[in-house]
Amino acid sequence: MYDYDVIFIGAGPGGYVGAIRTAQLGLKTACVESRETLGGTCLNVGCIPSKALLHGSEKFEEAANGTLARYGVKLGKVELDLAVLQADKADAVKGLTGGIEFLFKKNKVDWLKGLGSFKDAHTVTVAGKDYTAKEVVIATGSSVTPLPGVEVDNDKGVIVDSTGALALSKVPEHLVVIGGGVIGLEMGSVWRRLGAKVTVVEFLDALLPGMDSDVRKEAAKIFKKQGMELKLGTKVTGASVKGKKATLTLEPAKGGAAETLEADCVLVAIGRRPNVAGLGLENIGLELNARGQIDTGHDFRTSVDGVRAIGDVIPGPMLAHKAEDEGIAVAEYIATGTGIVNHAVIPGVVYTNPEFAGVGLTEEQAKEQGEIKVGKFPMMANSRAKTNHEPDGFVKVIADAKTDRVLGVWAIASVAGTMIAEAALAMEFGATSEDIAYTCHAHPTHSEAVKEAAMAVTGKPIHI
Ligand code: FAD
Ligand code: NAD
Repeated sequence: MYDYDVIFIGAGPGGYVGAIRTAQLGLKTACVESRETLGGTCLNVGCIPSKALLHGSEKFEEAANGTLARYGVKLGKVELDLAVLQADKADAVKGLTGGIEFLFKKNKVDWLKGLGSFKDAHTVTVAGKDYTAKEVVIATGSSVTPLPGVEVDNDKGVIVDSTGALALSKVPEHLVVIGGGVIGLEMGSVWRRLGAKVTVVEFLDALLPGMDSDVRKEAAKIFKKQGMELKLGTKVTGASVKGKKATLTLEPAKGGAAETLEADCVLVAIGRRPNVAGLGLENIGLELNARGQIDTGHDFRTSVDGVRAIGDVIPGPMLAHKAEDEGIAVAEYIATGTGIVNHAVIPGVVYTNPEFAGVGLTEEQAKEQGEIKVGKFPMMANSRAKTNHEPDGFVKVIADAKTDRVLGVWAIASVAGTMIAEAALAMEFGATSEDIAYTCHAHPTHSEAVKEAAMAVTGKPIHI
């Protein structure tokens, strides 16, 4: 009766993973994608290219600032060939996006190329052709939130968004980042390491909204120490561009005297908003919530029968692994009636150096729920971090005072993104801080700091 059992609209981590799992479960599946390559924001202009530049720029900085010399690695004059670094990034993107195309073929997922829009709840029009499905899953992701008065033009390269900031062909002299969130700090770190002066203008009084306040305070100290200028509690009220220079007008967020700031590159990174324009939602009577997102139930059903939604387009953190897990769960709900995503245990990581990571509740959120115990352990006292000259950071374990159940874990460390996985697993299994404290951790590893922070919950760490 239908062309497909399921059509996904959008082939980002939500849509492509969901489509593959749906096909694995024996359903006839198609995925609509308008980009030239599969993988969505994440693989094309997000997670992957940003991590390629973060990795490459870290290597450059290690060579340029004498870190390698400390280990007896003798170098001549260190120079940057940005074109080579950009080519390495392009290679990573090509390899991974091509890999998804291979997986689509392997799993017999049809790629319907073009923009998809609803004709009715079971019919999606793509490139002038109608395709029908029993279930349609919206996985259209998100795009950068525009800042009124500060117009992005990635081709000119003076005022750019994250996509433009990933593609610069020259290291800016002065990069001003508007927004001290994840994108601002990751991309700001890339260009600072490669030689730019970087100023971060953040509306709030602290960086990294959503993270634990200890982590946010420490982040400001660490980024300042690395040479970034931070203008916290400051808003940008306008921008003008003359030739290759931008002039920004800034004001204290709480009001006060304006000042101007000149830059040869400005990155607008003030958040992202769901992609819903052009989807034809009016044709199926699907309304958005006040934040422009599509609300769903636990099974990702929208208010319209036969239409579900996952990923950045629905509420929750805009993270690739959250979208992927929702992709798998929606496929399993459709095919079997059951699916699982534990939205209380979704780790978040900022891939700077050190990395900033967390899972579960912040200390402030946990306190609102009841009495808690907190254990903290500094990376300075971790033998591996100390040996590697990585003194910055700490691990913090937050547990319920009565049950000892772990409510949240926060980490700042060179490999915090990897360390946080054990915390997520422990929380998923309902671990207590004692469970972590009595789990044998290999020595010498950064992860021993997680064990010591857990031991500190009851006041008994060994190495401090
Ligand atoms: P998307 O990945 O946005 O994919 C949606 C796809 O749908 C797009 O390809 C789009 O072209 C397509 N589409 C939209 N509308 C239509 C339509 N009508 N018809 C056809 N196709 C359509 N997250 C992390 O977890 N880790 C990171 O390190 C990380 N780094 C990031 C770095 C940057 C610079 C950015 C911008 C984001 C980063 N993110 C990261 C966030 C991550 O990219 C997103 O959370 C994730 O991609 C969301 O997946 P999604 O499938 O919901 O949507
Ligand atoms: P964000 O929400 O992380 O940070 C935006 C920042 O901009 C906030 O601190 C906010 O207070 C500030 N801001 C808002 N308006 C402002 C204004 N007018 N002037 C100054 N500051 C202003 O958003 P982002 O950094 O743009 O990232 C978007 C999304 O992409 C995030 O939700 C994030 O989850 C995802 N992302 C994730 C990763 C990762 O997982 N490592 C990397 C990049 C992006």
